[in-house]
Amino acid sequence: MPAEKKLTIALAGNPNSGKTTIFNVLTGTRQKVGNWPGVTVERKEGRIRRNGYELRIVDLPGTYSLTPFSIEEIVARDFVLEGHPDVVIDVIDASNLERSLYLATQLCELDCKVIFALNMADMARSRGIKINAEKLSELLDVPVVFTVGNKEEGVATLLERAIETAETERHPSSRRRVKYNNDIEAAIERLQGIIEAHPQLGLSYSPRWTAIKLLEDDRIIRERIAALATDCCSEILTAAAEERRRLMDLFDEDPEIVMTDERYGFIAGIMKEVHTTSSKQRVDISRNIDLVLTNRFIGFPIFLFFIWAMFQITFSAGAYPMQWIDAFVGMLSTGVSRLLPDGLFRALLVDGIIAGVGSVIVFLPNILILFFCIALFEDTGYMSRAAFLMDRIMHLIGLHGKSFIPMLMGFGCNVPAIMAARTLESEKDRILTILITPFMSCSAKLPVYIILAGAFFGLRAGGVIFGIYLLGIVMSIVTGRLMRSTLLKGADAPFVMELPPYRLPMLKSLLIHMWDRSKIFLRKMSGVILVGSIVIWTLSYFPVHVPYSTDYDRAAAEIRSRYAQSMQTATAPQRQQLEKERDRALRELELKKKAEKTAGSYLGQLGRLLAPVFAPLGIDWRGGVALLSGFVAKEIVVSTLGVLYAAGDREEPDALQQALRRSGMTPLSALSMMVFVLLYLPCLSTVAAIRRETGSLKWMAFSIAYSTSVAWVVAFLVYQGGRLLGYA
Ligand code: GDP
Ligand code: MG
Repeated sequence: MPAEKKLTIALAGNPNSGKTTIFNVLTGTRQKVGNWPGVTVERKEGRIRRNGYELRIVDLPGTYSLTPFSIEEIVARDFVLEGHPDVVIDVIDASNLERSLYLATQLCELDCKVIFALNMADMARSRGIKINAEKLSELLDVPVVFTVGNKEEGVATLLERAIETAETERHPSSRRRVKYNNDIEAAIERLQGIIEAHPQLGLSYSPRWTAIKLLEDDRIIRERIAALATDCCSEILTAAAEERRRLMDLFDEDPEIVMTDERYGFIAGIMKEVHTTSSKQRVDISRNIDLVLTNRFIGFPIFLFFIWAMFQITFSAGAYPMQWIDAFVGMLSTGVSRLLPDGLFRALLVDGIIAGVGSVIVFLPNILILFFCIALFEDTGYMSRAAFLMDRIMHLIGLHGKSFIPMLMGFGCNVPAIMAARTLESEKDRILTILITPFMSCSAKLPVYIILAGAFFGLRAGGVIFGIYLLGIVMSIVTGRLMRSTLLKGADAPFVMELPPYRLPMLKSLLIHMWDRSKIFLRKMSGVILVGSIVIWTLSYFPVHVPYSTDYDRAAAEIRSRYAQSMQTATAPQRQQLEKERDRALRELELKKKAEKTAGSYLGQLGRLLAPVFAPLGIDWRGGVALLSGFVAKEIVVSTLGVLYAAGDREEPDALQQALRRSGMTPLSALSMMVFVLLYLPCLSTVAAIRRETGSLKWMAFSIAYSTSVAWVVAFLVYQGGRLLGYA
């Protein structure tokens, strides 16, 4: 049997034209999601077999052009130029043909093999738009196929035609290209001639295209040619500069502007030939919906309602499966405890791995639901309206409305929130958003506030917690402004807030979107959490033998025998009461022992080492250790406090709070600790997400250092300031 032939197919197109939908139809579940090397733009790839071919399908970032202004455009263009796809499918939104043709003509100019998918054919039809596909195909010399991505219509044909196109002999067609005016054409010809006269350059792109790019003063192409380091480079570059100057004199305008204008002229010509709209266009439903949803007065309340509903559903509907998973983890933990003999391995498995990973996996339902809601917002087109509504407020931070979406998600969990920053166009916006999102207090921090505020602020606890949330928002604004004027300075890419038409979402696409994100969360997070839990557990378990202040075994035996004696003479109900008392006494003893053990463990030693750092904040060494353990996951802060203050008694819900009040902690130091929890370094999963999404260790380290210093300084100000004002 002959070896399978391999073909690479790239999907290009404007944002929202349906590329990913077609990609999903083509590849089904056989896809890999990652980032393009070096940048934080999502990269999707899938491999499938069809008709004896092994096909590699790549979903390129959505762009309106191939002019290298944004990272997306650079990535897409580089892939077309350097990735050598055998064929490029340009997914065109047929209901928006004119806007799509700019990219289409640029692809044609590249002389790569192109095929058009006129997607959203259903939308075009319902809006009374008719496109003459044969004419279009003839004019541009490109095969054209109509598709309806979300109904899988035409996709099989598209793939067949794409393979056919890839297999036909390549013949640079003159029909498909934009004709520029004579002066420009002459300049192109001259440069093209020089380039062709030097085949030793070894350029892999078409000479005509290279000439055009040089006339447009395309920075990347210019640098690439300069980097070739042969003698003829300077000849080419000098000629290009000359021609540019000549054209500039002629038109009194940059050549690239003139050429862009001519491209639009070319497109207008094509539109005249192939595009007709029936005179009585359907009423644009989207516009009517928008009259309500983006209304100046009621748009915002409606938006707040949707957000409120999203959180409501996420947390209330998530609570049940959460309980099931929690119960399952509990059962697993008891089951394993029973099965295995007491010892190191059991402790590692039960107290380290199951407790650690279990504490995180319980959030899976919330995360699935949250992502489902978000996919719903995205697929219906509402998300861009939300961004539109928030735009003005977000400008306070120096960001666009779009950044609001990740920040909002941050109140749930920072990990998906940081992943959601992918939707932002500019890399600077993306990084800034990633940096400020951790200040949005995530749901895992809430238990810490509840415990501390409940213990020290009584009836005012609710107000205090609200204040903490507010402080987080204020800090994000401060950070945003600070970064915008320092590290992430510069003009953010100007951008038009797109309001794509509303669409009825498809369940399958919703589920794929939801699963795509949750999958990454599960796989990577469980790895990180697993390692983190093992580390914390190891530090708290070793050294095995610590010197105890009392002989706990003997004390336990004494308690037992004391109660056994009094029980002999007791009546049945009395005996029950006594048994309860005995068990409580034993449990207390056990907790004391555990606390002493932890204090003597490496974790405890580390805590005392850290004590001087936390002392100015009014936090003792135990608080310090709890905060340190919170690095793994913020939920662990509470359980660590429970262990350290020897109050893990489940039957008395406020046992920990009582212990905290007894420990010498004051309302002021509790407040300082809450502030620290709010602001300090994000949890391990979030740090991993930051690393992955910014693609840089540097930004990860910066985020850790920045948030922790801010936390320390603000907590210091709160504590010392409070003391100056006379609070204890
Ligand atoms: P991308 O930005 O190009 O990757 O676009 P997506 O694939 O994410 O599609 C954007 C939206 O358009 C999704 O809600 C799809 O379900 C929807 N969609 C995709 N193809 C079609 C189509 O042919 N007709 C209609 N009506 N909707 C489509
Ligand atoms: Mg996409």
